[in-house]
Amino acid sequence: MAHDALIVVDVQNDFCPGGALAVPDGDAVVPVLNEYIRAFVERGAPVFASRDWHPRVSRHFRDYGGIWPIHCVQGTSGAEFHPHLQLPVNAPHVVIVSKGADPEEDAYSAFQAKVGDRVPLAEALRERGVEHVFVGGLATDYCVRSTVLDALAQGFRATFLADASRGVNLQPHDSERAIEEMVRAGADVATLRQVEESGRAH
Ligand SMILES: [Zn+2]
Repeated sequence: MAHDALIVVDVQNDFCPGGALAVPDGDAVVPVLNEYIRAFVERGAPVFASRDWHPRVSRHFRDYGGIWPIHCVQGTSGAEFHPHLQLPVNAPHVVIVSKGADPEEDAYSAFQAKVGDRVPLAEALRERGVEHVFVGGLATDYCVRSTVLDALAQGFRATFLADASRGVNLQPHDSERAIEEMVRAGADVATLRQVEESGRAH
């Protein structure tokens, strides 16, 4: 796992049941992601957690020309990570990256996110020697999909974590189509057991 990193995409209250833009069953990813986080942290592999981090006024929102209800506004409880997500933020290899802070920007992919206000995710990954990213979170057919496709486009290997993601499915088969698209673009699909076994094999 020397060149591996975990990317936890947007596991925030507004994307979980009860939130402003809830993904059906979205909170079901939390216990699974906690297992992935534990496995990566134990091996000293970096863990990146992205968050949607919008200003109150953004062209991303329906009220200002976009398509989405207001969600994940900086500093609100809706923008906080799900309370059961066990993200050891004091661990040296756990990094939060934020996206959508520009009021002109939509920002779906974690590759649009930055560490602080400065370092783009791709650069932060390369600084740590990462070659292969494992991506799970919310939602399969939006931000997870975009993150996986961007990872591949930027020269990383990418594995979609099927058991750690849930989709919005505005159309009934959007998640299936997103997974097919990721695979066609070169992504692998795996579950926790497979990742743990491949980690041991390294
Ligand atoms: Zn957003």
